[in-house]
Amino acid sequence: MLRSTTNYASPAGRKDVTGLAVSNAPYFITCPDYAPARLREVLLQLLAPLGGIGAFVSPGQSVLLKPNLLSASEPGRRITTDPAVVREVAILVKEAGGKVMIGDSPALDNFDKVARRTGMWAIAQELGIALVELNQPMRVPVPAGGRYQSLEISRLALEADVVINLPKLKTHSQMTLTLSVKNMFGTIVGMRKAEWHHMAGRDLIAFAAMLLDVARTVKPALTIIDGIWGMEGQGPSNGEARHFGLLGACRDPLPLDLSLALLLGLDWDMFPLAQAAAALNQIPEPWPKAVWLNGEAPILENVQLPVTTSVRFLPNFMEGLTRRYVVSRPAQDLARCIVCVKCQEICPEKCISLNANILAFDYDRCIHCYCCHEVCPANAILLKPGWLARILNRLGR
Ligand code: SF4
Ligand code: SF4
Repeated sequence: MLRSTTNYASPAGRKDVTGLAVSNAPYFITCPDYAPARLREVLLQLLAPLGGIGAFVSPGQSVLLKPNLLSASEPGRRITTDPAVVREVAILVKEAGGKVMIGDSPALDNFDKVARRTGMWAIAQELGIALVELNQPMRVPVPAGGRYQSLEISRLALEADVVINLPKLKTHSQMTLTLSVKNMFGTIVGMRKAEWHHMAGRDLIAFAAMLLDVARTVKPALTIIDGIWGMEGQGPSNGEARHFGLLGACRDPLPLDLSLALLLGLDWDMFPLAQAAAALNQIPEPWPKAVWLNGEAPILENVQLPVTTSVRFLPNFMEGLTRRYVVSRPAQDLARCIVCVKCQEICPEKCISLNANILAFDYDRCIHCYCCHEVCPANAILLKPGWLARILNRLGR
């Protein structure tokens, strides 16, 4: 089991916005809304210190834009990357001479339905660009220094000349945040994602290490995160929409995510991705501080993290205890459930059964991946903290 041996702390100077512009520095810019003309200007400003889109795209290259298309949901729910951001990036890539594709591999929903609901189909029609479902898994070696030797990733993602990662800023019930690195998990084909949850089991840091391996293997040339509107609380699907008013860009998704975690008030020792990166010696040295292009970093106060986060990192010897009495358990909200059985289909442990419209969860086998919560279209999976967690939370732990 991969564990960080040190309690890796965030760097001193949290929210320090100064810093040298180094090649993997994350850049941020404030942006109030998705108005197309302003969005174009802001994106041009954001990409300027990175050399502009021409630093990433040459004429004739195939360019895969990989937004977060988690499910067939309207942009206003803030689950998926806003189509306005995808559209403006697609236009910039076309202007640079690239051949644009928009692609993802939703775990459950039909890709055509996802593309239509999320606004991607309309962009593809308007701009005459391709929509591709990231299927055709292909086993490829992982670059040295990761957790795994090889991974199965969509051939279409691997064969694109350039991948541009377009994640959404959201909280995540299992991984606390879902940002740039986790968005690359979408290049693992469809339901094969559930196999990775099964393999990592309850070990969040092992799962995060696999996410790092995926991102290092697909190697997006550029990441632009949509944080104008995002999600807080019980993300990535059933949280509350939150206006963060920012966009971020970086050559490397990891520094972007680590900077955002700090901005959102999350210390790295509570963020599995940072813990995994520390255990694998992947935290960039020297640390590339975030650069804000139009002033100071906004103070984002009282960002609601998932209820599953606050008491997760108890010592290993308490694992059995935490599982039973601390960690949040999924449960059915009978009033909301539409009995679509998507939760049953996605569950990597096959520990949800259905009898006369009542779901039963086998908590001894549940690995708390919260995939059931993530895919539920009716927000009918409750995440109930264990009784010890409720007491600790009340005591302000
Ligand atoms: S809990 Fe959600 S995903 Fe599961 S059957 Fe009910 S509506 Fe469908
Ligand atoms: S019941 Fe839900 S949280 Fe538990 S293993 Fe299945 S999908 Fe994951």
